[in-house]
Parts: sequence; structure tokens; C-alpha cells
Amino acid sequence: MKNKIIAGNWKMNKTIAETKTLIGSLIPLVADTNNTVIICVPFTDLATAVELTKGTNIHVGAQNCHWKESGAFTGEIAPSMLVELGVEYVVIGHSERRTYFGETDATVLARTNAALSAGLKPIVCIGETLAERESGNMEKVLRRQIVEGFKGITAEQLANVIVAYEPVWAIGTGVTATDEQANDSIAFCRSVFAEIYGEEVANALYIQYGGSMNDKNAAGLLAMEHIDGGLIGGASLVAEKFSGVVNAHK
Ligand code: PEP
Repeated sequence: MKNKIIAGNWKMNKTIAETKTLIGSLIPLVADTNNTVIICVPFTDLATAVELTKGTNIHVGAQNCHWKESGAFTGEIAPSMLVELGVEYVVIGHSERRTYFGETDATVLARTNAALSAGLKPIVCIGETLAERESGNMEKVLRRQIVEGFKGITAEQLANVIVAYEPVWAIGTGVTATDEQANDSIAFCRSVFAEIYGEEVANALYIQYGGSMNDKNAAGLLAMEHIDGGLIGGASLVAEKFSGVVNAHK
């Protein structure tokens, strides 16, 4: 049995002062879990989060990184800059970045490659919109995101990647995929990875569910065969809710 990987995506929330309070509350609440706990915080909170979580079981991630090591890319952050801070993980290709910031499968792949080269563990997000699901194109979209977004990523590299299956219609909407819907979609994603990398690699790959997951619905989702963890947005901003997700699976 795999343990679960629970990652919080704080998005554009929390000042440094608020970060101190939230992490201070969170540390004792998640101290006894066997699951992996990650908080992905805004760039400005990274140094504080790394410092405050030293010696705890909480790992720190960023929410994006660029594909180049340095240069004229105003507003961007290089993977090595994150590594220098002590950051271990980075969210790549979140649907909000795909929707609002022009992220494509190609840029997702470029950022994933750069993150891996720098020694970061990418949490790569995929997922269909409601229109894509309702028009019967869900599998086509997920397949494309996997085939194009992981082109050239080796099986060895994939061992350091977490995939987050996040149906766009469930993100920040309060509408959660049912346990079965989430499990079935993740099983499909895993089958596509198996076609590319073989069964063993695909079974070892961690695939999280994300989309309005919280302390109330986490136990059911995390009990499903193919769901290896969660990427948590809104509920990760409240220590009791996020720890409720972390502790929902023993
Ligand atoms: C997310 O930001 O990845 C997410 C799943 O958000 P929420 O939990 O708020 O739906």
C-alpha cells in the first residue's frame, strides 16, 4: 500500500504574518501522520515556510517555475532559485495557469523538465473542463495532456513526479467529483501512463485528486484504489481543515 501525498495549494493567499500563524497551527496537527504533507505557498512566503517547517514532517513547494535557468524573463523564477531556498516541490500547469496565463502542454513540459533538472519534484496538474466532459471528450483531453505534457520524460524522471488529476469544474467550485468519478478518471490516466511507461511504472506513479477536497469528503476519496493523495486549494488555508484531510487516511 502506498502512503498518501497531501499537498496544499495556497494560491495567491497569505501574507508572511499569516503564513507564520497557519504553519504554527498546522505543525502539531499533522505531526503524527504517515502521509506525506506538502504546502505550496506563494513565492514571497517560501523562505518563511522553509524556515518554520525545518525539523517537521511538512515539505514546502512553490506554485510555478520557469524553464530557463536565468535571463530576461521579467517576473519569472528559475528552478535553481527555489532549490537555493530549500524548496522541494513545485506545482506545474495548474488549470488556473492554463486558463489565465496561457500555459500549454508544451510550456508545462518545459517547466517540468527544468524543475526535474534542478532537483525539484514537480506536481503536474491535468484535468478536463465541464464542456470537455459533457461533450464526451474527457478521455481525449486527458490523453493529450499526458502524451504531450510528458513527451520525453523518462521512467526514471517520472519517479520524481506527482500527477494531480484536477477536473476544472471541481476546482474552487464546491462541487467535488464523486469518489467513483475521481477514481475512474485517475484509473484512465494511469492506463495512459501504462501504455507509455509500462504497468509497473504507472502503478508506482502517484496520482492525486484535486477539486473541492476537504476534511469532510477526503476519507471517501482517499480510500479509492487509484487515488494516491490530494491537491487541496481552499481547505488548505485553514489548519483544521487541511489537517483533517491529512489525517483522513491512516
Ligand atoms: C487547487 O487549487 O488545486 C484546488 C483543487 O482548489 P480547491 O480545493 O479549492 O478546489
